[in-house]
Amino acid sequence: MMADIIRYGEIVMLKSKTPKWPASSNTYILLSDSEALIIDPGCGFDERAKLIEKILKDEEVKKSTVVLTHAHPDHMGAARFLKANVLVHEIEVKYARNPRLLSEPFNADLVKRILNIDFDLVEYFMNLCPIHPVDASQLPEKIGFGDYEIKPILTPGHSPGHVALYLKHEKVLFSGDLLGEIMAWYSPGGGGVEGYLESLAKLERLNVKTVFPSHGDVTSIERVEKERRVLEERERKILKAIERGIKSREGLGRALFGEKWSFFTNVLILESHLLKLGREGTPLFNETWEGSPRTF
Ligand SMILES: [Zn+2]
Ligand SMILES: [Zn+2]
Repeated sequence: MMADIIRYGEIVMLKSKTPKWPASSNTYILLSDSEALIIDPGCGFDERAKLIEKILKDEEVKKSTVVLTHAHPDHMGAARFLKANVLVHEIEVKYARNPRLLSEPFNADLVKRILNIDFDLVEYFMNLCPIHPVDASQLPEKIGFGDYEIKPILTPGHSPGHVALYLKHEKVLFSGDLLGEIMAWYSPGGGGVEGYLESLAKLERLNVKTVFPSHGDVTSIERVEKERRVLEERERKILKAIERGIKSREGLGRALFGEKWSFFTNVLILESHLLKLGREGTPLFNETWEGSPRTF
């Protein structure tokens, strides 16, 4: 089986065997009478959809709704197999309907130019974790479900229309890819470092006891501080490398990530930091690419 089933009262967690990408995201099923709210059905493999269906059947669920924290393959792939309305933040609706458009927030063209390779990022994602278009519609500002009131909180950085789902009365947060066991990557098209930092600040202001992340174990809101420190540490490393006279993306990438600098998520993380530093007036080397998000 691809996932462990763990119950927290009326919340059923399908915990993926590993938090490491390209594993499927965790799936959460909230139950109320004969209805279910399914958060992030996971990769588009049959097994995950079948496991969800089995739980729905055992619980005698008559009606279900899918809510996506964002329209990435590892979260939404299985949605198409479920008989349910699919809701996602309005910014992500177009990606859910046409996953090929994910090349925009993934900054696929930029990665190709920086690494000078011909590489179809979306295709690569789709092969690792199948994704199927779904006819998603826009998340409302509040979701009433049984006794729950769920507030989607826009938290970009990793993805432009990423939301965390907050259950105020229960002090529960479904954090999506933020606050996971492994820190999420970020890209200029996803909201960048600034977006990520603002999202963390938003989450910190909530009154949260339990964080249910999309990848890895249940955690606490203290993860916010850990992630903020990682972001700050990366910026410090880049600034130090610039001070040492490093004048290329490869050089800075190596200073941050060593040999793994050219993995596409690392390229995008570095670019996000360079954009922030550039906007703040830090003198950077003069390497530009046509259409690069320096102007974005
Ligand atoms: Zn994601
Ligand atoms: Zn994910």
